[in-house]
Amino acid sequence: MQFGVCWYPEQWPQERWATDIEMMVDLGLDLVRVGEFAWARLEPEAGRFDWGWLDTVIESVGEAGLGVVLGTPTATPPVWLMRAHPDIMITDQRGARVPYGSRRHTCITSATYRRESLRITDALVGRYGANPAVAGWQVDNEPGNHDSARCWCDECEVAFSRWLEDRFGTIDALNEAWGTIFWSQTYPDFDSVRLPRDTMTSQHPALRLAHRKFASDQSVDFLRSQFERIRAGVAPGIPITTNLYCEDLNVDARAVARLGGVASMDNYPHGVSTPFDTAYLLDLHATASGLDGQAWIMEQQVGPVNWTDENPQVSHGQARLWLWQSALHGYDASLVFRWRAARYGQEQYHTGLLRHDGTPERVFDEVRSTISEINRAALPKPKPKIAIVHSYKDAWAIEINPHRRGLSHRDLLFEAYRAVRSLGLDAAIVDSTDDLGAFEIVLAPAIQISTPERIAAIERALAADTEVILGARSFVIDRENAWSDRPLPAGLSDRLGARVIEPTSQNLAVTIEPWGTPAGIWTDVLEVDSAEVVARYGGSTYLDGSPAVVTRDGLTYAGFTNRESWQALLADRTGLSPIGGNIERFHRGDALWTIDHDSRLITRSE
Ligand SMILES: [Zn+2]
Repeated sequence: MQFGVCWYPEQWPQERWATDIEMMVDLGLDLVRVGEFAWARLEPEAGRFDWGWLDTVIESVGEAGLGVVLGTPTATPPVWLMRAHPDIMITDQRGARVPYGSRRHTCITSATYRRESLRITDALVGRYGANPAVAGWQVDNEPGNHDSARCWCDECEVAFSRWLEDRFGTIDALNEAWGTIFWSQTYPDFDSVRLPRDTMTSQHPALRLAHRKFASDQSVDFLRSQFERIRAGVAPGIPITTNLYCEDLNVDARAVARLGGVASMDNYPHGVSTPFDTAYLLDLHATASGLDGQAWIMEQQVGPVNWTDENPQVSHGQARLWLWQSALHGYDASLVFRWRAARYGQEQYHTGLLRHDGTPERVFDEVRSTISEINRAALPKPKPKIAIVHSYKDAWAIEINPHRRGLSHRDLLFEAYRAVRSLGLDAAIVDSTDDLGAFEIVLAPAIQISTPERIAAIERALAADTEVILGARSFVIDRENAWSDRPLPAGLSDRLGARVIEPTSQNLAVTIEPWGTPAGIWTDVLEVDSAEVVARYGGSTYLDGSPAVVTRDGLTYAGFTNRESWQALLADRTGLSPIGGNIERFHRGDALWTIDHDSRLITRSE
């Protein structure tokens, strides 16, 4: 595993740089990320570049034996550029331009922004593409964060129309697929399709899902051109990646990771709720570039941050635990954010490895000893036997039409994920069309969109003797967010030998029997043909005795959503008992590693 740090030398006097680099070497680091917000320093005015400082930084870092990860600064276009080209500014839903003065103030579609982004990228690649000290590239920074993937300007509206035209060919095909006959929403032509801005009441779910896909595609398309320019200008094998905020839902992380073959995410455990939420997000991004792909943590929290509600202190041993957690989840690199706490700007309370005054933080020595511990352990990659199917399109569909206010795709997946971890098992989080047959059990707790490709992937897995377990509300819609007119789960009901006849949202204390566990907020009632009934609903006068879990030849349908019921079903399948507590276990080679999040103990046994 490689370790590194995010450094902003442009924010500090040059006389200090040599000391900083010496301390980085002492810490045992391999990588130093620089440059990703430095556009104003690199190009103080249009066409006038100031390379001297970055030449010195890259040369000094390289001479010290460390590798530079060079960022393209396109998340922070400078003020002179915004004033010259106001069309770069992002537009909010009400049509107002959002001013500069922060970051990600950009319309991802803007032809001007794209042209200027490629201009600065080309300049960086031209100067440093062949520099042996540059060990990796980061394109942009956290695209989609701050809800920046969706811009509501006229240029985006035109691009959306063209995107739809490319997909559908004719407006009749769009009207048919979306069902715009509902409420007389039939479009006469593509130019009449509006972005889904606030309307009198809710907007058409097909329009909203299409817009989510469009916004993600626009970000990926924007990034792709930078990836292509960099790939063409650097040595083969140099990693190129884009870091995403760990739980951002605006941009499809797999589509981004597959641009360069390396996934990367920014891991801030204080930004999410529990250690298992962090574990879930680590597993989600770990496979984003493919089941055996590379994954980096480009920013790792090791101390208090400045942007949550409370920004609490970080206890002794917590940074060590976080670094171990990412190592055990299979990451190839981890870069601490940030080197030295900033005196200026919006992150003054965001701690780093050094205090504002340049002296080491309490966590400095902890990070140093942890790096050497993890390097000595030489952990093999995880080989989970259980996979959980995740897709951004399902997540967006559920966000648009949750059936119950506040319910999310993340909640539904997390209940199943937590159940797998509670039995002491590793879990891979995979795409619906990945090789599902590589696992013993595949859970699909929230796979709503029925497509021929997904059905084929499930059938291949079943043919490979993998048990596939579908969760409540599976395969109910098509790819355009229209409800299916076939028996549910659409396309698999014959194979299952059962169909869902009542997809209900519960406000009752329904149980799953014989386990006596809660069913959760969704209960799909099944009508059985040739399937075997594994469990039934209890505790409700109208559901009592109805089939809740059915199975046939390796395909299982679980009509519930609750974690305890997932745990009971998986305990039945694996013969394992829950291990209790906030404990994660990892089977790595011949060793069993355990993280106890309450006591912050990490142990290894054979
Ligand atoms: Zn726009």
